[in-house]
Order: sequence, then structure tokens, then C-alpha cells
Amino acid sequence: MASSCSCIFSVSLLLLLVQSVSPARDQSVYNTLSSNNVSGEVKRRAYRWHEFRRFRNASRGSFIHGISELKKYFTRFGYLENGNFTDVFDSELEKAIRTYQRKLGIPVNGRLDLRTITTVMSPRCGIADITGRIRPTESYVYFAGKPRWGRSAPMTLTYALSPKNSIDSPSRADLRAAFERAFARWASVTPITFLEASDYGFADIKIGFYVGDHGDGEAFDGVLGVLAHAFSPESGRFHLDAAETWAVDLEAEKSEAAVDLESVATHEIGHLLGLAHSQVKEAVMYPNLRPRQKKAELTVDDIRGVQALYGSNPNFSLLGFSQSDIHSNHAAGAGAGGPLFIIRVFYLGLVTFLHSLFIHAST
Ligand SMILES: [Zn+2]
Ligand SMILES: [Zn+2]
Repeated sequence: MASSCSCIFSVSLLLLLVQSVSPARDQSVYNTLSSNNVSGEVKRRAYRWHEFRRFRNASRGSFIHGISELKKYFTRFGYLENGNFTDVFDSELEKAIRTYQRKLGIPVNGRLDLRTITTVMSPRCGIADITGRIRPTESYVYFAGKPRWGRSAPMTLTYALSPKNSIDSPSRADLRAAFERAFARWASVTPITFLEASDYGFADIKIGFYVGDHGDGEAFDGVLGVLAHAFSPESGRFHLDAAETWAVDLEAEKSEAAVDLESVATHEIGHLLGLAHSQVKEAVMYPNLRPRQKKAELTVDDIRGVQALYGSNPNFSLLGFSQSDIHSNHAAGAGAGGPLFIIRVFYLGLVTFLHSLFIHAST
């Protein structure tokens, strides 16, 4: 089973403004899906998380028809224990929402506010987020037991794309080139060499595209929703949902539902190496990726995580990263990016200053 194997008012307002762009895009994606030739069954499954939109601002203690589906979602991604779920917004659900908000770098309030529900509806990786305890002051996370490839350095891992379980578009050459770029990103920061194997059966890392139930207990769900999953070391299994519109060049691929292959591949390779989901929103190892979003650059958080497992590539240095990248990734933890982190610190300082003035004035 994949789950076991393998991110103050002014800032909130700013984030809300940024985030509020997403529902419109989601809706246009949905319209696109409705008007193209995707089969009825795939359409029905596609974007079923959109139904969660109606739970926005639901309050604890109320009966909300269908909210058990949201409980199943939180169970799937590690936030709730399996159980007989009712359609009551109970304290367990509120607790799960709080944990989810903490993990995804969202202001923690236990409510299904706009930002929370929008994040829930966003396409994502199929691997559960909770793989151990949440460490609020840290960022990168490992799987339980901290598994890694146990070969001695310098390590070589081979990979191959399944000759049978693949897709027709993009071309095989374009797919291979995208995977090669994704592996190269991790190779540039670690002492690991990745080589494409000619024999799929003997490759350490086996890549394949699958539809629906494909035998590992983690069925894919059609267009968007879950995009891919990969298992922790030393499994090497890397599966992608064949129902997605995979893009190797977002300028050439115009679909509103296009998913950037290199971004997803870079994320899943992180799992293959032993990294679980980060709560740093900018990190490659953050679980969500919007349609048409490109996010393949490793951040300081990703790099520190993988280097703690395997060490550094002797040719790599953090000198190319700005001090704010290094500081925010290292210290902010719960999803605060560089500039936002600085605004938050400034805002907190201002509030503290005004508060002390008020206290002085009233005494
Ligand atoms: Zn993932
Ligand atoms: Zn699978």
C-alpha cells in the first residue's frame, strides 16, 4: 500500500487574494473537461473533489449531507482513522482540519474556510501526508523508519520507463527527456548518479503510467485529483495516472487541465529517495500542484532533506541561493515563503509595538 510505503491579518488577506484566483481556474478546468471527449465515467470521477466546495464555512455540530466523503478524503491522506463515518461535522473532523491546515501551511482555525477548501480541492500526490508526527518547527519530513537506499557512496541507481504501461502523447522520447531532467535535479545535489537502464525488469526504479486500479491498492481517479504516487526506498515503483494530460512543454500544450510532467516527476523522485511531504509551500515536496503549474526547482528545504539522507554532491553549494531562501526555508517551517515571512515578522513587531503603546497610554 502506497501510504505505508511510500503551510495576522494583513498576511492572511494577502494570501486570500492570491488564493481566490484558484476557484475560477478550477471552474474553467471543469468546463474544459465537460466539453471535451473524456468518457462519462472519467468525467464523473474527474474533479469529484469539487463537490467539497459546498462544505465551505460549514460549522461544527451540524449535519451536512455528504460530508462523510470529506472524512474519507482526510482518512486517505492520513488525517483521520478509518471508521463508520456519519454526515455530522464532529470534533474529530475539526481536529483533522486543524492538522491538515498545519501540515499544508494554512492558518490553523479548524474551519472549512475558502483557503482550506480550495487547497483540499487542488490536484495532488497520492501519498498520504502524515507519515509520522508533525514537527511544527521543521519542514522536510521522512517516511516512518527513515528508509533510504542502502548502497555505499558514490551510489548509482538505474531507472526505466515501462515498455508496456506508458502513454502515446507526449512521445516516448519527450517523456524520457522529462524524466532525465527530473533525475538530474536530484543528482546535482547528492552523490547519486541516475542511469537509464535498457532492461526495464532490472531497473532499480520502474516508471509506468496506469489507469484506475492497477494492483497496488492505490487506484488512480481519472483526470486531476490524484496525479501520481511513488513508493519509499527501496521499492523503486513510480506510478503516474495515465488519464492526465501530461505536458512536457506548457507553452505547446494548451489544455487547462495539463499537468507538468517534470514537476510531478521531480516530486515523486523525492519519495523514491525517502522524502515524505514537506509543509513548505514552495518546496517540490509539498503535496499539491495546480494544473499548468511548473514547480521543478529544488528549494533549500528539499535539498537539506535529501542531503541529510545521502550527503551532498561535492560540486554542489548553497551559495547560489539567496540568504532569504536559506533563512525562510530553514526557520519559517509552516509554509511561510521569504517575503511573506518578512512581512509577518514586521507585522508582528508592529502589533507588539502598538500594543505596548496602548498599555502605556492606559496605565
Ligand atoms: Zn507526494
Ligand atoms: Zn500505483
